[in-house]
Order: sequence, then structure tokens, then C-alpha cells
Amino acid sequence: MSSIQITLPDGSRQEYPAGSRPLDIARAISPRLADAAIVARVNGELYDLTRPLETDASLEILTSKNPEALEVYRHSAAHLLAAAVLELFPETKLGIGPPTENGFYYDFQRDTPFTPEDLEKIEAKMWEIQKRDLPYERKLTPKPQGLEKYKGMGEYMKCELIEEKAGDIFSEYTLGPHFIDFCRGPHVPSTTKIKAFKLLSIAGAYWKGDEKNHQMQRIYGAAFFTQKELDEYIHHLEEARKRDHRKLGVELDLFSIQELAGPGLIFFHPKGGIIRKLLEDWMRDQYLKRGYSLVYTPHIARSDLWKTSGHYNFYAENMFKRMELDDAEYQLKPMNCPFHILIYRNSQRSYRDLPVRLGELGTVYRYERSGVMHGLLRVRGFTQDDAHIFCRPDQIEDEIVNCLQFAIDTLTTFGFDQYDAELSTWDGGASGKYDGAPGQWALAENALHNATARLNMNVKVMADEAAFYGPKIDVKLVDAIGRRWQLSTVQFDFTLPRRFELEYIGEDGKAHQPLMCHRALFGSVERFFGILLEHYAGAFPVWLAPVQVMVMPITDRTLEYARQIQARLKEAGLRAELDDRKEKVQLKIREAQLQKVPYMLVAGDREAANNTVSVRNRKHGDQGVKPLEQFLADTQKLIDGKISFE
Ligand SMILES: [Zn+2]
Ligand SMILES: [Zn+2]
Repeated sequence: MSSIQITLPDGSRQEYPAGSRPLDIARAISPRLADAAIVARVNGELYDLTRPLETDASLEILTSKNPEALEVYRHSAAHLLAAAVLELFPETKLGIGPPTENGFYYDFQRDTPFTPEDLEKIEAKMWEIQKRDLPYERKLTPKPQGLEKYKGMGEYMKCELIEEKAGDIFSEYTLGPHFIDFCRGPHVPSTTKIKAFKLLSIAGAYWKGDEKNHQMQRIYGAAFFTQKELDEYIHHLEEARKRDHRKLGVELDLFSIQELAGPGLIFFHPKGGIIRKLLEDWMRDQYLKRGYSLVYTPHIARSDLWKTSGHYNFYAENMFKRMELDDAEYQLKPMNCPFHILIYRNSQRSYRDLPVRLGELGTVYRYERSGVMHGLLRVRGFTQDDAHIFCRPDQIEDEIVNCLQFAIDTLTTFGFDQYDAELSTWDGGASGKYDGAPGQWALAENALHNATARLNMNVKVMADEAAFYGPKIDVKLVDAIGRRWQLSTVQFDFTLPRRFELEYIGEDGKAHQPLMCHRALFGSVERFFGILLEHYAGAFPVWLAPVQVMVMPITDRTLEYARQIQARLKEAGLRAELDDRKEKVQLKIREAQLQKVPYMLVAGDREAANNTVSVRNRKHGDQGVKPLEQFLADTQKLIDGKISFE
């Protein structure tokens, strides 16, 4: 019998009989390793543990410690799902079943929609198949025979994939008697390897993600190596569902989207309006404190402007349709930049005038396809806290430091203390797809690098991920349940200053082109509002809460005193409401609690006699009796310091 040389990751070599499987070799090394093995890597490629090795090779056994093994595991769970569906609903046709960030999905074509009850049945069937310990078996099939076979099975989508992707001979995998799949693999060796999974939901999907193609049903599942990780993930999902800003927006009466007005357009209700005002006021104050000038610009402009900026040609599919007015064509603005540029260009600028920082809370409109809009997070009209900085090359690093410090202060003010940054750079000019001179790129990228170093920011460099017109830095925050959200961006632009022929007169008396940066810290006010809402699960800190205090008389006898309390609080600038309904105080407390009102003040006879209030807060309940003025002073301190009592 011939033998093969196997090289292990530690460099050791051993001889095995030809046809040995990675699983056999793992077992020879240690039964424990064989037990933990998920998949192999052979000569750098992922490889089934049960696929024989015919030639000398380097071999690595991947266990649950390896992220690639997790993908293989999850993809194998997708096969398990498809096998279960075919056993229960044999008429179903198969699309694709890849791994996802937390599990897997499979796309199915079937005339009858799957119901939530079906989902339960399918999951139960998956466990049944899992327990049968069925092997994932690999076979090789010549393309013509393979095509015939899938055609005979009516698997027209698989035929399409085979036509497109298969070589002369392709691999397919079976799982049990019903399921066979054109698939490159690899997979786990058998179903009992898959130890923790759960089906989550059914969603619509288009074949190949193209809405011109037919609709399919996508079943999503979660899969992890251990039940503990799965439980944690399911808990996290429930936590996220409770915090869904669309749900909270209704419950707390903060905002709506009106069918009659159209999708992706946000209506802020009075309570949401207060919070939005506080966000905007804070931002405008900061602009002024930090040396920005506030500007206001229109919502529409002649197409000529968009032609000069380049949006007319390169951003057309994101813009609303053109409208004819008088003799010219106009368009809604998708960005504020050209407007700020026009203001910069309106005066002659000298090197002494720079930097010029023009800031605005500017509402823009972008066309989003109807399927992709999502609450406040993806909309068609939104307000950017948008500013543009025009400066000299020697100023750029300080400007970036100031922008990033501003971004960090924004995050910490609104209660986020975890964040990191991604720096997107160019490819060094190799592809020719980037605009701007190499010197400009070097200057800008250095400034971004140095600025993050000066601020001790965690930064990940994303090579060749820059926009064609300049490098950028993105700041991402981590919210209360560990989700990362992209928030602030500082983006260089080498293109617009050229297109608009921007200049300043230098010390040498000659005209120079200024450097230009776009920067938005909230990003969009609407989106930031949504993130805040989810981060706090609607329980805003006192300074942001739309109603800060709910005053409740116990009986009609103390109604007058309760009115006085409310008047005093309002006079001091607090948002205080009075619940004067003829209801039990317990019910009033429960409702204020559901509305996440930070403070409830209960006024009874004793309180009225002593000019005190009985204080409850939504988090810690009863806080005892305090003189009214004491409560006011304590609360004012929290508000002024933007401190949360939680
Ligand atoms: Zn597969
Ligand atoms: Zn801009």
C-alpha cells in the first residue's frame, strides 16, 4: 500500500496510508482532537474531515476555536435545515444556504408560505435528523449528468447555478435520502457535530437578491458551538427587540411615519420634538463654542449646481426627480456640501481667514428603494449635523484633532463611553481609481493617523476602502447591549475644491487651493435619535426625558398643592406634568413608569402641610420625602451635569 507524507502545523511530518482521512489522522494524534475537530485545512484550503487524502499534504485540524470552522459549522446547519424542509415539504425547491454573522439561512421556493407553526415543525425535524448522526457525504459528478439529474428533480435554481459556476466535474453533498446539493463544501462530518441551533424567522427574499427575479422564502436560524453561546445570542435578540426604536417610538409617542405622506419621511411628535430640540440646541451651541459659523441653506437648487458638483451625473440614482420651474430645472439637495462651498466662494479668502468652518443642521433628501427603509435608521429625508472645513495644509492635523475630540465629546455627552475608529485609506495610486494627487493623499492620511494617535483612539486601518475623492475616518460607538453603530465621519475631499475652483490667497500673494473636509458627528439627527432611543431603551436621562417629572395628587384635597408643585417646577425650567385624573395613585405610577418618566412626585395631605414631596424615580422606586426646593436643587444638578441617576 502506498503512503503519503503529512506535514502538521508544528512542522512535524508523518507517514500515513494513502487515502487516510483528516479525521483518522486527528484520531491518531489524539482522540480529544478528533472529538473537537470541525473541519480540516489541507494545503491552505478548507477540506472535509472525511475526505480521503491521496497525496502528500500539509494538514491542520480546525476546532471550535477557529472562526472559519464556525462558518463551515453554520453552513452545515443550513444543509440540515434544507434536509428537514425537504422531508416535511418534498415539493420545495432549493435556492442557496450560506452562513451568516450569527447562524445561517436557506432560501426556498414553495407556493404555500411557511407559517410560524411550520418553523417549529422544521426545527423539531432538524433535531430528529441531527440525532440520526447522518454523514455529510461528498460526491463528484460530471457536469452533463449532474445537470440532467437536477433537471429531473425540478431543481431549476440549482441548474442555473451549475450552468454558471460548475467546472466539468463538480462536487455535491448529500444528507439523508432526500437532500442533495450542488455545493463546494466543506461541511462538518456528520449531523451530531451541530450541537446548538435555533430557527428564528421567515423573510421574503429574491432569487439572487434581484427584485426582478421571483420571490422566495428565507428561513433564518442561529447556530453556535455551544448552547450557552446560543442562549446568550437569543437573549441579546430579545433585548434588541425590546429596544426596537420603531416599537418604542409608538409606545412613547415620539415619532411616526405617515402612510398618507409617504415612506421614509419622519414626523416628530411633541415628545420626540423636545428631545430633538435638545439634540439640536446642544449641537448648535457646540458649533459656536468650537469656532464654527452657523449657516442656513436652501432645500433645492438648480441642476447647474449639481452638474458642477458632479452629483447630477454620479449621484443621480440617489436624488429625487428633477422639477421644472420657470426656465430652469431644479433638484432637491441630497447633500449640503455644494451650498457651503458657495458660501466659502462668495468672498475672497486670505490665508489669515482660514480655517473656515461652516456648520448647519441641513435637511437632505435621498432616494432609497422602498424595500430598504427602516424606521429612523434608513429614511428618505433626514437632517445632517453637517459642517465643512476649509483650511491650509499646515492646519489640517489640528483640525482633525478638533473634529475627533468633538466627536468623542458628543458620544460621551449622550452616554456612550465605548467607541473606536476605522481609517479608510487609498491603494497608493495603484489602480488609478482615486482622485487627487499622491501628495494630497499622503498629507491627509498622515493627518488622520497622527490625530488618532494624539487622542489615543483605537483605530483600524481599512486599506483601499476610501472614497475615490479622499480618505476618511469613521467613529463607531458601542451601545448598552454591545452593538456597534457607525456614527461620526470625517471625510477629506480633493475633488470638490477643484470642481468649484476654490482658492485662498497665500502669504506669497498667490492663489492656492484649500483643503476641504466634510464632517458629520450625529451623522443624521433622525438616525442618532433612533440609536439613542435603542441605547436607553426609551428611558432617557433626566436632561433628555420629554417629561421629567409627573406630579400626582393622592386625592382631590391635594390637587391644588399638586398644581403649585407643577407650577414651581415649570418656573424653574423643568418639564413637569400633572396627572389630575380621578384614578388611584398606583395606576398613575404604573403608567408614568411605562412612559419612562424619570421622577414621580406624590402629593398627599402630609406633603401639602409641610411643603414637601414624596419622590419616586423610575429606576429605584421610593426615594422618601423631601422639601420641594431640595428635590428641585437635586434634580437641577443632574440636568445641568447631564448626569443619569441610573
Ligand atoms: Zn454546502
Ligand atoms: Zn459634505
